[in-house]
Amino acid sequence: MQNETKKELHTQMWKIENPKDFTAHDREVLEKAAAIIRAGGLVAFPTETVYGLGANALDEAAAKKIYAAKGRPSDNPLIAHVSCLEEIAPLVSNMPENGKKLAKAYWPGPMTMVFPKSAIVPYGTTGGLDTVAIRMPSDPIAAELIRLSGVPIAAPSANTSGRPSPTRADHVLQDMDGKIDAIIDGGPVGIGLESTIVDVTEEMPMVLRPGAITVEMLRETVGEVGIDPAILGPVSADVRPKAPGMKYRHYAPKADLTLVEGETEAVVETINRLAGEKLAEGRKVGIICTDETKDRYPAGMLESIGARARQETVAHNLYAVLRDFDDRGAEYIFSEGFSEDNLGRAIMNRLNKAAGYHILKV
Ligand code: AMP
Ligand code: MG
Repeated sequence: MQNETKKELHTQMWKIENPKDFTAHDREVLEKAAAIIRAGGLVAFPTETVYGLGANALDEAAAKKIYAAKGRPSDNPLIAHVSCLEEIAPLVSNMPENGKKLAKAYWPGPMTMVFPKSAIVPYGTTGGLDTVAIRMPSDPIAAELIRLSGVPIAAPSANTSGRPSPTRADHVLQDMDGKIDAIIDGGPVGIGLESTIVDVTEEMPMVLRPGAITVEMLRETVGEVGIDPAILGPVSADVRPKAPGMKYRHYAPKADLTLVEGETEAVVETINRLAGEKLAEGRKVGIICTDETKDRYPAGMLESIGARARQETVAHNLYAVLRDFDDRGAEYIFSEGFSEDNLGRAIMNRLNKAAGYHILKV
């Protein structure tokens, strides 16, 4: 209509204090949020991995709004979130045996599986693919919101495309204020890295993105499991990674990030030297260190990501540290590297991508 002005979105922020025991106020918040999802709107909410930006996964127009709010390339498909196993059958054309086994072992939890999609899942949600990625989150707020909505919720990480994923509600507000209808603040998330993605459409399950359900855990449940090459290093332009999202420079801070890997002594010395050079040029420099090394960097802005021995803590702090350095105006960041076993594989995958594979082995 000619005179109709476009309505400005005003993002509301609703707090849920204790997700383990919803109060009447919390239930009201969840009902309001579910009503927005049903009406085709956007609500950000906590999950155990990172904050998600939710919309009705079966409503192509609603899914489009997610891409617009995030500035996300339209060929990067969305994960559909469900609250129980019964909600999966309508979304898939068949449920492979390995899918059943993995669901039994790790759902609800931080694992996404790729299935052949059914006709009701729109291509607008799957980025044009004939498969659909599905996850059943364990976070009680996420699970209750999905249940109350009565529809699967498409929910990519609630950040502007390319920025570090949000692990707190204020991160979401930074990126999404005025672009989405509401944010449910459930406090900081538990894990801090996105879900493990496993493709179960072929005989051998294939990990497309590492996460808190580790490759070692998956192998324990279903035997042989492959790892998509896009996880391990940069993919050349002619290779199409199976998870289309893996081809983008992701999770990245505004600063130029360099990863320095090797023996601790050499790493500390190299970072101090490189940081010193940039500082001498008058640049703002951030250093990502660990509790073990935090006393060994005399110059630059320092943030410890946690104790090296506790991978869970490193995962939990990673994105918040990257965002903090953005807020503090860092132009260059130097980070120590981490071992790639267990959760370390996911940590290094995100750090490698954040650094655009700018890695120094010393
Ligand atoms: P995000 O929701 O921001 O964590 O990103 C979702 C990730 O899941 C992206 O890397 C997508 O490429 C991947 N993904 C979603 N759906 C599919 C699918 N059907 N097949 C393969 N990867 C998928
Ligand atoms: Mg994301």
